[in-house]
Amino acid sequence: MGLFDRSKKRGPAAQDGTAEQFFEQGKQSFGQENYAAAAQAFEASLRLAGDVPSAYFLLGASRFRLGDSAGALAPLSRCVELVPDHAEAHNALGMTLGRLDRHDEADIHLARAAYLGHVQAPGTLAAMDMDYCRNCAAPVNYSSGPDPADIVIVSAAVGWSCASCGAVSCGRCASDGGRSPMDPRCPRCGRDVDVLTK
Ligand SMILES: [Zn+2]
Ligand SMILES: [Zn+2]
Repeated sequence: MGLFDRSKKRGPAAQDGTAEQFFEQGKQSFGQENYAAAAQAFEASLRLAGDVPSAYFLLGASRFRLGDSAGALAPLSRCVELVPDHAEAHNALGMTLGRLDRHDEADIHLARAAYLGHVQAPGTLAAMDMDYCRNCAAPVNYSSGPDPADIVIVSAAVGWSCASCGAVSCGRCASDGGRSPMDPRCPRCGRDVDVLTK
C-alpha cells in the first residue's frame, strides 16, 4: 500500500481518477502557479483519500496563494495536527493567521516554524521585532533597551539572550518556569542572560 488507498475509486464521472492521480495533477498545477486548478485537484484527492498531510498542506498553500486565507486555515491546521513538526505548514499557517489578523496565534506558528528550521520564518519574525525561544519554541519580543521593568519581573513574552552560548530564550524558560522570576538564567548553559534587543 502506497501513500494512497488505490481501492477507493470514484464512480464514472468527467473527473474520474484516483487520489494519487489528482494529487499529481495538483502538484503539476501548483508548479505552474495555477493555484485554482491545484486547489480543485487537492480537494478531489482528499475526498478520495482523506488525511494525507501533504495534500492538506498543498491545498492550504494553494488557497493561501489565491488569497483565500479563511479557506487555507482548515487544511493547514489539519496538516500540523497530523504532522506537528511540519515546518512549511507551520510557516504557511502563521502567514495565514497573520492575514486574518489573528496575530497571537500567527506568532506561535511562525516561531514553531523557525524552531523547526524553516528558512524564512526567522526573518518574518525579525521584521516584527520578534525571535523565538530555542528551548521551547515560544515567540518572544525584542525590547527597545534594557528596561529595568523588564529585568525586575520576567515576562514570558520578553526574550532573553545569552552572551555565553548565544541561545535566545523566552521569559518562562529563562525564569525556570516562573520559579525564579527575579533571576533569569540561560536554560541551555545556566549563565546570566540579557534582555533581547535588536
Ligand atoms: Zn521558552
Ligand atoms: Zn547560554
